[in-house]
Amino acid sequence: KSEEINQENEERIKEGTASITTFGSVFYNPVQEFNRDLSISVINVYIQQILNTKNSITKEGNPSLVENKSEVEPDITILEALAASGLRSIRYARELDGNKKIIANDISKKAVESMESNINGNNVANIVETSHSDAILLMHKHKQKGKQFDIIDLDPYGCPSIFLDSAVQAVKDNGLLLVTATDMAILAGNSPETCYAKYGSVSLKIKSCHEMALRILLQCIESHANRYGRYIEPVLSLSADFYIRVFVKVFSGANKCKRTTSKLSMVYHCTGCGTFVLQPLGEIRTNNKNEQVKFGLPTVSVAMPLCNHCGQRYHMGGPIWSAPIHSSEFVKQVLDSASDKLKTYKRIQGVLSVVLEEISDSPLYFTLEKLAGTLHVETPPMMAIRSAILNAGYQVSFTHTNKTGIKTNAPATVIWDIMRCW
Ligand code: SAM
Repeated sequence: KSEEINQENEERIKEGTASITTFGSVFYNPVQEFNRDLSISVINVYIQQILNTKNSITKEGNPSLVENKSEVEPDITILEALAASGLRSIRYARELDGNKKIIANDISKKAVESMESNINGNNVANIVETSHSDAILLMHKHKQKGKQFDIIDLDPYGCPSIFLDSAVQAVKDNGLLLVTATDMAILAGNSPETCYAKYGSVSLKIKSCHEMALRILLQCIESHANRYGRYIEPVLSLSADFYIRVFVKVFSGANKCKRTTSKLSMVYHCTGCGTFVLQPLGEIRTNNKNEQVKFGLPTVSVAMPLCNHCGQRYHMGGPIWSAPIHSSEFVKQVLDSASDKLKTYKRIQGVLSVVLEEISDSPLYFTLEKLAGTLHVETPPMMAIRSAILNAGYQVSFTHTNKTGIKTNAPATVIWDIMRCW
């Protein structure tokens, strides 16, 4: 009977250079085309970086090898751990540069059958291999050196956290991990307790909840990586539609893991006026004389008193990742090299241009309407407030996560003064 239902719901889909058939129960979400287009653009930059490194090593080590291009190209290995119809893997096979081998895995037998027919239909059977396994078990089988993947893509329904422990082990040193989370209600503060249970961080219902969601996911990946003497460097972190997506490089280095506490902060959020204060979990102090790095606990003035702007109490959330969430160098390369043939190319350009402008060392943001609402004044024009912040000598930027967001390194007192004078 289910066969009949699947036959009835059969649908032909064209996306990018792939053309697939989806069956009733096998997942396909057209809204995620942006996610797939963007992933292709990001991975292509990453592959180029790997190729450049390999080329320069080969040139120095054995110049004769450079003559034969295929010998110097790395064999990039990619795992799509939760592949459903296989559309993403097929597009990776057809649209990514370099020599690559892709494993498209799914726990559902129906999904794997659908993948197999789609892979054959797109003539990529020499590049994409299917696997019918629990992603966690599969990744555990690939955690030894030599078996690890260059790139692992995790695109689950809802929360990705159960896959992180095995993923951070199954990716190579300097490998790329791509992670989607769609459980936005949990990450955006509707259920802080569930967020702690799943991500090890308390979410807050605040105006900058989408950026906070990205930072919760990043701290979660970092915490899993740290258990194995590894750490992450985010290259791009995006909030889009109903999901978030992060792209992080994973490195080995037990000593570097000591820096993690200085990249994490608790968030104090005023229940009255929405002012937020970040409290880092650690500090790095460098001794100028011998450049020795020392790690320490930050000193704090006991618990948070009442908010000094409105006298209300604070809610405490976190820990969140409070270090930069993008690498501007990397984002620039994606922006410059993304193919204009991608259907969502314009959107990629738009979003990445805002991302490039974002102030990287000022986590979270105010929103214009919350600032105005708190003071019961008319919402001022964005440009007027931005100019006032700049004139006061501080940085200010938009955020890709909220149209009316104001990211700034100005202290909250300056923002409230500007708003009161408006
Ligand atoms: N990446 C796909 C794309 O871009 O079209 C969509 C993936 S879909 C959101 C999630 C898939 O994960 C489903 O097909 C489901 O069967 C699979 N899945 C869920 N739990 C799994 C597990 N433990 N191991 C492997 N696959 C799993």
